[in-house]
Amino acid sequence: MGLKRKELVQTSTTPTVTKIETKEYTQEGKWNHCYLSQKKLAPPIVSDHLGRLYNKESVLELLVDPSKFSQGQRVGVKHITSLKDIVELKIKQRNGNGRFICSVTGELLGSGSTKAVYLVECGDVFLEKCLKFDDSLKCPVCQVSYDKRNAIVLNSTDEESIKKLEDRLTSLKKDGLSHSLKKSKSNKRKKHIDQPSTPINIKKPKI
Ligand SMILES: [Zn+2]
Repeated sequence: MGLKRKELVQTSTTPTVTKIETKEYTQEGKWNHCYLSQKKLAPPIVSDHLGRLYNKESVLELLVDPSKFSQGQRVGVKHITSLKDIVELKIKQRNGNGRFICSVTGELLGSGSTKAVYLVECGDVFLEKCLKFDDSLKCPVCQVSYDKRNAIVLNSTDEESIKKLEDRLTSLKKDGLSHSLKKSKSNKRKKHIDQPSTPINIKKPKI
């Protein structure tokens, strides 16, 4: 297709963000770089329903003026359309501005196989092992009550975890809620009038 050729020409002449993304946005990079802007992560840091890390500043920029970002960057964050789609994290850094650490044990996050989570209810971040799924269901940092499903695994890579996170959002949406548990806007989406409104399905009664 003609379009594809044009894209090829563009990528060969200009250094694109996509290239940085593929080279540096490794598993390790995910813990240091904003998923949207690929800038180094710096507080305030936010996360979405999939546990990706972002600079809040970059997300705000996106919400105000999406044209600042490339098509490729925007595609990856289609699910972020308002501040309700993100949660600000209370994430701790070693020595103030070093690597991120568990707020309970002080261990490094993103190293080894131990998963790290954050709670949507409060934004606290720690290793998953610090969560005691007992009857109390209180955040180990601030003691706020939380729902099990709102413990979001950060930077998860396995399909099963991602599917679970996607399913959680689908279920929240059905209840009229957003990722941050705030009420989402009315379901009436006037923007999508291009989609033909299908007539009510009239099921033939089974005889
Ligand atoms: Zn907490």
